[in-house]
Amino acid sequence: MSSRHAPGATQAPLRARRTTLAAAGGLVAVIAISAALALRPLLLVRSHLEGARAESAVSVKVAALRTSLADFQLFLELHVAGLPATLAPLDLARGTQLATAEQGLARTVGQLLRSNGLANDAQSLAATSARYDKTIVGLGPFAGGGAHAGATAAFAAERAAFDAMWAASASTTARLDGVTAAKLQRAAVHVDSGRVTIFWIAGVLAFAAVSGGIAVGQRARGKERVERGANERRAFDAGLQQALEMAKAEGDVFGVLRRALVVAVPGRHVEMLVADSSRAHFRRSVTTDSDSDPDAPLGCAVVSPSECAAVVRGHTLVFPTSTALGACPYLVDRASGPCSAVCIPVTTAGKTIGVTHASGPDDNAADPAEIGYMENASRRVAERLAMIRAFETSENQARSDPLTGLLNRRSLDHRVADLQRDGIPYMVAYGDLDNFKQLNDTHGHDTGDQALRLFTRVMRDSVRPIDLVSRYGGEEFVIVLPECSSAAAGAVLERVRERLALALTSGRVPPFTVSFGLSASSPLASFTETVARADEALLRAKIGGRNRVVIADAPGPDAADAADAFDVDAHDAAVT
Ligand code: GH3
Ligand code: MG
Ligand code: MG
Repeated sequence: MSSRHAPGATQAPLRARRTTLAAAGGLVAVIAISAALALRPLLLVRSHLEGARAESAVSVKVAALRTSLADFQLFLELHVAGLPATLAPLDLARGTQLATAEQGLARTVGQLLRSNGLANDAQSLAATSARYDKTIVGLGPFAGGGAHAGATAAFAAERAAFDAMWAASASTTARLDGVTAAKLQRAAVHVDSGRVTIFWIAGVLAFAAVSGGIAVGQRARGKERVERGANERRAFDAGLQQALEMAKAEGDVFGVLRRALVVAVPGRHVEMLVADSSRAHFRRSVTTDSDSDPDAPLGCAVVSPSECAAVVRGHTLVFPTSTALGACPYLVDRASGPCSAVCIPVTTAGKTIGVTHASGPDDNAADPAEIGYMENASRRVAERLAMIRAFETSENQARSDPLTGLLNRRSLDHRVADLQRDGIPYMVAYGDLDNFKQLNDTHGHDTGDQALRLFTRVMRDSVRPIDLVSRYGGEEFVIVLPECSSAAAGAVLERVRERLALALTSGRVPPFTVSFGLSASSPLASFTETVARADEALLRAKIGGRNRVVIADAPGPDAADAADAFDVDAHDAAVT
């Protein structure tokens, strides 16, 4: 199946940014959850410890109450148990003070117990305290040394109330100790669970840190790889560009491309097919296969741009396998077997001039980097070819005459200068159409132009490829025939006259004739002097009646007779 090459490189940074954001978000979430998990046991431990501290404060107060109770009981046993007749006023004051202290503490302890959720204990302590206070009050009549009757019973009641209150306060102390121990126990449990939680959190964070470090390292390595690839690509581009700038002809450009492709896309058969000027046929201009490699795969057999899918669609086509249903027909059933291929149109300024075709192992098409190299190289080559062609066109235009396409006077001068520098002898024929003004006046300027073009064709067909044919002025022409004898040159000019007459029999252009003056070069004469002598001979031809060839310095004006003596057959062999 064919697929368009989609450059994914531009989406990669966006994807990487999203991944980084997601990872950072995940890390923040892990840290937040970890903090919450670690904080919870710590808060619970704190709350339990605070509860235990409050209860131990109550315990201290209960202990103080019990001390106060014991003090008062001791006082009673020392001063009241013997029921002395009188109680010294100082002892009485001391007793009252102890009893008041005990009552005050009992109230405080009751409030503390209630505020710590021990209402039952507070109630039982308040009840026993009230009974105890009552029995103390019941001892009052005996303190002043009054009636002793009933004293034993009052003291026994006081002692029983004391025991009850002592027991109640002992049980409250025990309960407070129990509650405190339970809270400390719970705090210890939370400390343990907090330790486990912190251990796990530390593990998770360490894991996240290690994996984050690995990921960051991988990313850095990936980035480095991408940068290295980009640098290599830039260096390749710069080298290719420099080499192409130095390529002056199309052949040089193709040579540069071949060397670049061998380096940039190793292990693949790459070729560039370039369309001819008519755009009807492809020419294989570049191939990376070595000529001596007998196993080199055959290239693409497509013969014209209109048959190439990549050129027609105008974009790169990637064919992972030639066995796929949608594979290019030119890949199917290749002698070298199934293959993969990439086809890149070679385009410049919106004009496709060829295709770069890279084939490789089946199911192993060129990767995006290789395709990038080939696309870039193809584009640069297309630009260079376009530049060279445009340059050649403008050079040709400057070199040639626009009406006939013949060399103009200036470029003829350059070409002859080369001949003279190399010491090559030549003949100069100066031709002038006869009575051409009349033809123009009678049939119009366009017909005159047609006549000039027809005469050009006749001249071209009559000379050798090495002969130089130029339009020297309006209806005047100069032909330079290198390494040609005077007789052979005369024969050529006779041939021109004859063929002109023959060409005019079609009747498309009114009849006209041509006169020639012919001169030979000499090592001592300049080209201008040789042309001048040919011009003099031409003048003689005109004077002699036109439609003839006159050789310079030849005796007598009627050179047509002399021309008749030219060895035409001898020159035939030289004219192709
Ligand atoms: P002769 O036999 O003595 O050479 O006579 P002639 O009429 O050819 O000579 P003349 O130099 O008087 O005329 C040359 C004419 O060639 C003048 C001009 O009308 C014509 N001519 C020159 N250049 C062009 C051209 O580019 N196109 C056309 N159609 N005519 C041209
Ligand atoms: Mg003239
Ligand atoms: Mg003329």
